[in-house]
Amino acid sequence: MSLAAVATDMSLGARAHRVAMVAAEFADRVDQEGRFPREAVEAMKAERLLGIQIPSAFGGEGATTQEIAEVCSILGQACAASAMVFAMHQIKVSSLVEHGTESAWHKDFMRELAARQLLVASATTEAGIGGNMRNSICAIEIDGDICRLTKDATVISYGTHADAIMVTSRSHEKAASGDQVMTVFRKGQYTLQKTVDWDTLGMRGTCSDGFLFKGEAPAVQVFPKPFAEIAAQSMLATSHLLWSAVWYGIAADAVLRAQAFVRAAARKANGAQPPGAVRLAEASNLLQLLKANILSGLKVYADAKADPDQLSSMAFSIAMNNVKLASSETILTIINQAMIICGIMGYKNGTPYSLGRHLRDAHSAQLMISNDRILGNTSTMLLVQKPDTSLLG
Ligand SMILES: Cc1cc2nc3c(=O)[nH]c(=O)nc-3n(C[C@H](O)[C@H](O)[C@H](O)COP(=O)(O)OP(=O)(O)OC[C@H]3O[C@@H](n4cnc5c(N)ncnc54)[C@H](O)[C@@H]3O)c2cc1C
Repeated sequence: MSLAAVATDMSLGARAHRVAMVAAEFADRVDQEGRFPREAVEAMKAERLLGIQIPSAFGGEGATTQEIAEVCSILGQACAASAMVFAMHQIKVSSLVEHGTESAWHKDFMRELAARQLLVASATTEAGIGGNMRNSICAIEIDGDICRLTKDATVISYGTHADAIMVTSRSHEKAASGDQVMTVFRKGQYTLQKTVDWDTLGMRGTCSDGFLFKGEAPAVQVFPKPFAEIAAQSMLATSHLLWSAVWYGIAADAVLRAQAFVRAAARKANGAQPPGAVRLAEASNLLQLLKANILSGLKVYADAKADPDQLSSMAFSIAMNNVKLASSETILTIINQAMIICGIMGYKNGTPYSLGRHLRDAHSAQLMISNDRILGNTSTMLLVQKPDTSLLG
């Protein structure tokens, strides 16, 4: 394909690849400076990627979770922080698409998001609750047509760069901790007072600082459905699948770098097999395992969307939890293999084979909702739920 044809190809894949080129160019600087990947996010907006999931009736493209996962993976191969910003935004959009169509306000917001390419952030994590997102301490106050919320949100990725934040809370002052709602607050309807700096090992460009959030908005901006339903029916699956797609992208790029290293070594060795070749075969085997894990999870979610009982079942939750657990652990093994293959050239920064950023970014995967917490949830369900032993999908 000619360069001109590449530049005008409007397929989702081509648009994602153009954004990935921008993201790759700035990835190291974003990481070193721990700054928001503004060039990549501007490119996402220019390619109109932020609204792809919105149904076409509301001005979007109705992209499927699998299509969005592919974009996450393409971006993840270039800059994990940019890819994670995109994934987290799409996870929030999935709540609108799946649970916002019965509310006039949320439908209008979807139209505006698609038209103006608005970026949406998330505030579920809370001081005193940590990653236990199905519980809240803060409570929303409904006062006539107005709602007010104060939340000690210890992690809000790209909070200061977002056009809106979706915030979880208890549904009223006397509600139990698990009786939650989620509310969309638009920029201008809240203040963010920084409480925690995001100076981290990896995923530095997500700028996931902590803030004291204070918001006031029309009460219609509270999602009409309980957060328990939103979490179980869309957020659990989209989080684990789209995060995994980003992580797959990081691991895939590590394998590509390792392959380039082995091929360069083979050229120098006049055709003799270089030392890293067998490890590369092992890494490619693991990468395929990771891909199969994500693809099977995407199929389980697509099937479950057509069957509300399945979507709310323990079997579905266990399947999604398992996708996350396996992806977040396997990437570390793959990147480590790639590092051993590339040796000091992988360990050093600034070489074509550098893998330090990949490894540091990948270490966030096990903590992004702690794997121990997820294992704890799954183990409780397995006291009553038969494990899936079928190969029929
Ligand atoms: C890159 C990145 C971006 C993020 N962006 C956002 C964001 O935009 N918005 C947001 O709200 N959050 C965000 N988070 C937060 C994230 O999703 C988790 O909620 C958070 O990382 C959990 O923090 P924690 O480890 O302190 O808390 P906890 O989950 O409370 O865990 C604390 C410790 O206790 C252990 N533990 C806790 N519960 C159990 C259990 N049941 N069984 C066994 N051990 C347990 C864990 O292993 C861990 O060591 C982000 C995280 C990352 C890494």
